[in-house]
Amino acid sequence: YVCELALMQGEPSVTKDGVNIMLFSNIETNDEFGKVNEYKSDGVGLYRTEYIYMEHGDVDEDTQFNILKEAAELNYGRPLTIRTFDLGSDKLSKYMPHPKEQNPAMGLRAIRYSLKYSHFFMKQLRAVLRVSAFGNVKLMFPMISGLEELRDCKNALNEAKRQLRDEGVVFNENIRVGVMMELPSLAVISEMAALEVDFFSVGTNDLIQYALGIDRNNEYVAYLYEPCHPAVRSLLKKIVSSANTAKIECTVCGEMAGEPKYIPLLIGMGYRQLSMSPSSILRARMIIRSLNVSDCEELVRDLTSCPYAKDAEDRLMEFIRNKS
Ligand code: PEP
Ligand code: MG
Repeated sequence: YVCELALMQGEPSVTKDGVNIMLFSNIETNDEFGKVNEYKSDGVGLYRTEYIYMEHGDVDEDTQFNILKEAAELNYGRPLTIRTFDLGSDKLSKYMPHPKEQNPAMGLRAIRYSLKYSHFFMKQLRAVLRVSAFGNVKLMFPMISGLEELRDCKNALNEAKRQLRDEGVVFNENIRVGVMMELPSLAVISEMAALEVDFFSVGTNDLIQYALGIDRNNEYVAYLYEPCHPAVRSLLKKIVSSANTAKIECTVCGEMAGEPKYIPLLIGMGYRQLSMSPSSILRARMIIRSLNVSDCEELVRDLTSCPYAKDAEDRLMEFIRNKS
């Protein structure tokens, strides 16, 4: 099996019926580029910049620019999707201000934190824009709940652009801007959201947590954390349909994307881009090469009438077992 996986290194991620599936990496530090390059992933689908703050605290603009510019260089022109810092909830930095909260996952985290502490946000937006002159950089915002929040983010980005322009600093004026689709509220209005951004990236870890009201880190209710719950499947289908109608890119970057049994489900729904931990890339490529898109589509049609998450899980397991 290990030998078989190693053979996947030089193979394209294409289904038996010739559909190409892009495989990107989720990373937290530049040390991970060794694996990103070794496994020949198509680039970085999620750079979790909050780890910079957890390690260094309130980093100045130049330090952040240097870290991300190094990432752009190590990524050799492939897409580098930089997510603005997703601090708060379970990702706290001992160097950053965090209020004590009763319900932190529902509280001051991610974009809410960035918009409140806008001086940190502005520094990061300037650093990312500066890096956009050195690579194929895309920018995305986490935990967007509605279009007002997105508008506030775009205003901040435009302000950062204006400052850099005035200072004569080079950057990519047309940097692509996307949102994490990880709150049910945004998924429900994904047709509208698709008109406002260049891409979606689906964060299934949080989407499931918020759709089902299940703390993703709570062992007592872990049995209810169900990626195959029909409500979750319906949101996932809706998101990719909205993206395809508007002809914008759409990637899944939550844990589901790297989990073998969910790959046929996602492909059958219409997803063509998956982003995962680099160590899952070869296995995902091997699975993709064993699939026909038409079979995956049929699988999704069959599951539409399946009301129970457990039954859907069993059918996905059976489907993937028959492939290997
Ligand atoms: C997600 O929510 O699925 C995601 C990819 O983001 P994170 O795990 O960093 O919250
Ligand atoms: Mg998330």
